[in-house]
Amino acid sequence: MTDMTAQTMPEPTPFTETDRDRFRELPAHQQSDWPDRGALDAVLHALPQQDLVSRASVDELKRELANLESGGGLVLQLGDCVEDIDTDVRSATCDKITFLTHFRSHLRARTGRHVIGVGRLAGQYAKPRSQDHEMVDGTSLPSFRGPIVNSPRPTLQARTPSPSRIVHAHAAAQTSYATIADYHRSTANLDPIWTSHEMLLLDYELQFLRHGPYGNHLATTHWPWVGLRTRQLDGAHIAVAATLSNPVSVKIGPDTSPEEAAELAARLNPHDEPGKLTFIARMGRQNVARLSPILRSVHRRVEHVCWISDPMHGNTVQAATGFKTRHVEDIISELEQFQTIVGEAGRHPAGLHLEATPEDVYECAENAREPGDPARYRTLLDPRLNPEQTARVLGHWFV
Ligand code: PEP
Ligand code: MN
Repeated sequence: MTDMTAQTMPEPTPFTETDRDRFRELPAHQQSDWPDRGALDAVLHALPQQDLVSRASVDELKRELANLESGGGLVLQLGDCVEDIDTDVRSATCDKITFLTHFRSHLRARTGRHVIGVGRLAGQYAKPRSQDHEMVDGTSLPSFRGPIVNSPRPTLQARTPSPSRIVHAHAAAQTSYATIADYHRSTANLDPIWTSHEMLLLDYELQFLRHGPYGNHLATTHWPWVGLRTRQLDGAHIAVAATLSNPVSVKIGPDTSPEEAAELAARLNPHDEPGKLTFIARMGRQNVARLSPILRSVHRRVEHVCWISDPMHGNTVQAATGFKTRHVEDIISELEQFQTIVGEAGRHPAGLHLEATPEDVYECAENAREPGDPARYRTLLDPRLNPEQTARVLGHWFV
């Protein structure tokens, strides 16, 4: 039977430039201003073409997510706002795996539920920005858009998008995946680590799309998400996401209308498959009530949507010290309200999405103590929870 299927299944045809052009013709926000398109294309075409994740592993994650709803399990998705690639990537990946598996066990032990561990890992290299430029010492510079595009160093040269960074970022992803594979080999009977990142930089992601029998396989990550700034219904990011066989998620914010959320659900999960679609709510602690009409509207159209909470991105403030921060108490408030509201809607609160690091940083504020020490504020962009703060937040997941 299996052999028959293998024989009758048509060989997937390669993804062509014409296929990619169909997406490139659509409006896409948050793409970078590459000074030399020819140099960018040359780099993209020269990238090693091997899949970073296999179709089989993506299908396995989708089955795991499908079981979440029926089995009452949880997702724990965490990692850096943006990963550093100018570091010892193997050692950093080892630390992130240890951190994720530690808190996966911790949440499992506290709740007695199955927990799926997902890293913002092995490809979280591109960032959307609210402003294209920022002022540094009286000079306007292009914003840092993640190490796959430019450098955070505040000089015009460092901030100019450079295609060679794509080569470097891809090599970092290969190193991270090799490290994860080593971990899986050494722990054969334990649960796998899954990867996720924001599917933002289309030029890069389109290079890793493959035709498949049940939609396109995105071979850069198990579980891509579409961010708040690129979730337009007529935009390229949603058009790509709608063709994928991978499970996908989308950030939902205070400005997302109930109708828009329902339309996104219908576009991204047209066959109402369990495990296919997750909404990551990042409302801000004062706006969580706006989720109620969104939940009702979405579930009038689609049954199978998982709901998880990102209680961080809606609670970012500027500290008096000038650092961007988030108060742990605000994060906890949003997380608790999220669980109550999703539960009241008769749905399963399916887990959380956090920016957190194994490093001993102090980037998020606690008990009104704001970050002030640059030596303990090391993030490339958004403030992350340190391990103690991560434990404190997870302690507010209702059992
Ligand atoms: C992020 O997850 O780092 C991010 C930019 O989130 P959002 O799209 O929700 O603002
Ligand atoms: Mn972030």
